[in-house]
Amino acid sequence: MWDVMVEMLLAARGKVSSIASADMYACKLSWISDNLLDQAWKEMAQTLTDANFANVRELIEAEPPKWLADSSASACMLCGVHFHPIMCSRHHCRFCGGIFCGDCSKGRSLMPAKFRVADPQRVCDVCCVRLDSVQPYLMDQVSHAAQMPTQDLTDLSTLRSWVNIPWGQSMEYEIYKAANAIRVYKKVCSLKPEKSIPDAILRQAKGLAIITAVKVGVMVTYNIGTGVVIARREDGSWSPPSAVSTFGIGWGAQAGGELTDFIIILRTTEAVKTFSGNVHLSVGAGLSAAVGVVGRAVEADVRAGDGGYAACYTYSCSKGAFVGCSLEGSIVTTRTNVNSRFYGSQSITASDVLLGSLPRPPAAATLYRALADLYQKIEG
Ligand SMILES: [Zn+2]
Ligand SMILES: [Zn+2]
Repeated sequence: MWDVMVEMLLAARGKVSSIASADMYACKLSWISDNLLDQAWKEMAQTLTDANFANVRELIEAEPPKWLADSSASACMLCGVHFHPIMCSRHHCRFCGGIFCGDCSKGRSLMPAKFRVADPQRVCDVCCVRLDSVQPYLMDQVSHAAQMPTQDLTDLSTLRSWVNIPWGQSMEYEIYKAANAIRVYKKVCSLKPEKSIPDAILRQAKGLAIITAVKVGVMVTYNIGTGVVIARREDGSWSPPSAVSTFGIGWGAQAGGELTDFIIILRTTEAVKTFSGNVHLSVGAGLSAAVGVVGRAVEADVRAGDGGYAACYTYSCSKGAFVGCSLEGSIVTTRTNVNSRFYGSQSITASDVLLGSLPRPPAAATLYRALADLYQKIEG
């Protein structure tokens, strides 16, 4: 808003000074008036910038409001509609503390540092507009993506460093899980190099999807799981992660209860794009997928050329051994809520994350370290 004001003032200034100089030209005083005008405009612009700065500072240094009792308002403080226990419930704006109806408090914004919350919070429409200008700053400062990781990968005394729980609630856990899956995979391939993913496939990858899924049921088996997708950029660096979930139904004689980490290698940019859509997709139907490819023979095939080869390869490692099962027939969905919470932005999409130019979040440091370790081996 302030940017626009300053811009308008600058444009207006140009017009006024040209009029002034035309009038004053005869008296040869134009340079004085020009100078004066210049000075006046500069002061005005400075005042505006100061006001803008003070405005931003006030927002950033704001402290949490007092929580009002529900009884302190019988009507929405913005539109005046009367509250009703079922039809129209009360909502507290987390920034100004006011009580509003649901329609007047639809927005979610990141809060300044003194609020000590990393999740976007419910705010009233007025606060939503006020806080809008500082959202990019807060995304860099207080969002989950900006925090240093707290999960300790190297601590083998904890259960979760051995077993990945398939349904992670937060992106932090998904990142930890993915890093863990890569670490376990690396250990497996140093023990059984013939069962590892062919180097050529890894080197050409345009992205990876790392998913932990659990299979449950007898005869009819369901598999559900969550994970992250990351894209590899032109320069070889990795994009920030985007969270995904999978759900699938399969048939088989074997009893379920199987827990599997999948590493899906996305070999084309199209495959990455498919994984970045919010639309449900079915691995197998939507993408040509080669399943459980094992061994050195494949590597020779891949080197021979791109034509006719699958857009993605699925590797599954059941904690130390490669098995032939796959995610074929599963639906993969972007977990928009998890992404929004992690990056602190309601409008962020998976393609912003994977194909845009967002900086790498510090919170994903462990994942980047695991990937660097893996790629050092094949590229070094
Ligand atoms: Zn209202
Ligand atoms: Zn408010």
